[in-house]
Order: sequence, then structure tokens, then C-alpha cells
Amino acid sequence: MTMSKSPANQPIIHVFPHIDFEITVDDVLKAMKVRKVSPSLERITAELVERSLEVAKPKALCRVCYVEDRTDNAVVIEDRTFTSRVLRQNLDGVQRVFPFVATCGTEFEKLMLDRSDIMASYCLDTIMMIAVQQARRHVEAYLKDTYAVGQLSRMAPGSLQDWPLEEQQPLFDLLGDVEQQIGVRLTERFLMIPIKSVSGIFFPTEVRFESCQLCPRLNCPGRRAPHDAGLSAQYGV
Ligand code: SF4
Repeated sequence: MTMSKSPANQPIIHVFPHIDFEITVDDVLKAMKVRKVSPSLERITAELVERSLEVAKPKALCRVCYVEDRTDNAVVIEDRTFTSRVLRQNLDGVQRVFPFVATCGTEFEKLMLDRSDIMASYCLDTIMMIAVQQARRHVEAYLKDTYAVGQLSRMAPGSLQDWPLEEQQPLFDLLGDVEQQIGVRLTERFLMIPIKSVSGIFFPTEVRFESCQLCPRLNCPGRRAPHDAGLSAQYGV
């Protein structure tokens, strides 16, 4: 389900309040990367998958925006300045960008468990992570279809030192009342609640970009691409 909101003279914001959620026990066990799956883990996972399918409503929103100005290390998008050398370079020659937020949804709070049960908590975290990934992919597919964009890459505030987490605030400012629309709020330290939420800016690219290529962090479980020292040098980070 999609709602596009455009009160008079207001920007169009595409809101996805209930994205279809599909998940199996195998999906979860695979994502958990547990070496040996015990019968009790399989039972816990099956219970949590069943309960998640009953309550989960992953959500997202996105907006179409235009780059208005550029300096050496910043871009201005619809009156908001974003300071990042990497974002600035990635948006060379790009006019249209798509800020977004996606979330597993607040409905998962109903399933929050006794955190002393470590394996069940990890299992639920994994299900929530899969939910937010599906929400983010839904937005990406919608943008590609709707705006005839061949390939999109994305960057998120806080994913690299070059683009600090504080820039979540101007990003959220671009998207209106994010909490009212999809239930995601920013804390004083610019973290998102629900914690399994992602934000960022999608932009068209010919060559796919991943922030992980510029991130030297070792043993990161979320790494999506190998660190590339040569590319880091090109970006000057
Ligand atoms: S390697 Fe990990 S910390 Fe670094 S950008 Fe990728 S996901 Fe983020």
C-alpha cells in the first residue's frame, strides 16, 4: 500500500505504511549464522516467525528532492546543507535524489522479550533486521519503477566518519513528521527508534557504491563490500 501526500504547495512524500512481510524459519536461521541449530532454537525461531507474521507491518517513506548547490565538501538539498566529501562526490552530475527512512515497524514492540533469553532476543533481532531490509528494498524497487532509474546507490549519515550521525536531523527535516507517518523518531543522540530502522539518501549511479568500500572497520558483520584503499584515496578519506 502506498500513500503519496501532497498538501497544497507541499512536497510529495511517498509513504508505505504497511509493506508486505515474508519470512520463513530457514531465512532466520540462515541470517543468524548459527553453526549448529538445536531443536530448541528451531522451536523458538518457529514461534517467533509465526508471531512476527501476525503483527509485523514494516514501513517506509521517501521523497523526491533536488540538489540546489554544491561546495567542495557539501551539497545543499532543498535548503538543507549536508557536509560530506563522499556524498558531495557521489552527487557530481546528479540533480535528483531520494531521501528515505525505512523501519521494521513499532509493532515488534509487542514481541519484545525477556532480554535475559539471549538466543530468543537474537532471533527476534534477526527477524526485525530482515523486516527493515525488506522495507528498504521495497522503497528502492518503488523508486526504480516510478522514476525509471536504472541503478541506485545509497548513503546514510553516520555510516562513515566523513558524514556524521548528526546529519540525521536535516535528513529527517526533509521528510516531514516521520514519527507521525511511520513511527520512527530520533533520539537526542540522533539514533533511530525503533532501532531496526535505516535512513539515507538514494541517488542514481552507473557504478554501484557502498559505504563499506571506504570503511576500514574489521570484522563488521554487516559488511556489504570489501574495503577498497584505492577508492578511499580517490575520495580523499
Ligand atoms: S563495514 Fe560495517 S560499519 Fe563499515 S560501513 Fe559497512 S556496515 Fe557500516
